[in-house]
Amino acid sequence: MAEAIENGELSGRLWFYSNYHCNLRCTYCLTESAPGVARRELGLDEMLAAAHEARSLGFTDIGVTGGEPFLVPEMPMLLASLAEILPVVVLSNATLFYGSRLKALEPLGAAPVHIQVSLDRADPDENDEMRGPENFRRVVEAIPELVERGIGVRISTTLEDPDAVDPDEMERLCKLHRSLGVPDEDHVVRPVVRRGRAATAGMGVAATFDQLDPELTLTADGAFWSPVGPTVRDGRLDTDMLLTHTTAPLAAPVAALMQVLSERRDGEDARLGIK
Ligand code: SF4
Repeated sequence: MAEAIENGELSGRLWFYSNYHCNLRCTYCLTESAPGVARRELGLDEMLAAAHEARSLGFTDIGVTGGEPFLVPEMPMLLASLAEILPVVVLSNATLFYGSRLKALEPLGAAPVHIQVSLDRADPDENDEMRGPENFRRVVEAIPELVERGIGVRISTTLEDPDAVDPDEMERLCKLHRSLGVPDEDHVVRPVVRRGRAATAGMGVAATFDQLDPELTLTADGAFWSPVGPTVRDGRLDTDMLLTHTTAPLAAPVAALMQVLSERRDGEDARLGIK
């Protein structure tokens, strides 16, 4: 497996879906996340054990996503512990970073942890149309607070059609993230993927198994081929990219993923390169 990572066939990142609930209800959410949904939490001990095993197997870093990971009260502590094992990136809507939650993040300033924050548009109303009221304001207030504390911040922009975006509008967004302390190299733009709530709304690009880079992803329900795999539609978990129901020991889903990878025929890897 380490060889597959080294030659670029396999991502070195191991993903965890820490939970599926969220304080927001975005129009294009892949996991139909919202406040009242099934939480499907992956245990803290399970994530730590998997991270230790991941390092010994040759993984290079950890990704944490959801749902909104910071709704898990122990998340800052977990991230600090994971970062002692491998570097970590955690995806967040950044709307909860104030008061005691912001204070709890301070130790991460000295750790190899990046928080990847969603910010889609430079115009508050256009941004909030998809993500909900006050989203823009909360995000632009939170990012400088993180930067000031030395915490690594990346910005992720999700657009229905990134190729069709007006260059002036993109420049306004880039000016904004630079002004918040996030340089260009830490800004990623990705398309809406037609799964979950986006599929229900008829939005985004189709992403099939063969178009997605293999990135082993652990959830409370099993291990998946890609973080775009364990999506939710009409309240039900999609299982088209399920590798194994078991996630421990990590060697079991790794073996399943490597088997699928070895069977993938030439010409099937027209990948979308979604990050
Ligand atoms: S896209 Fe992210 S922030 Fe929006 S509802 Fe889904 S999990 Fe929450």
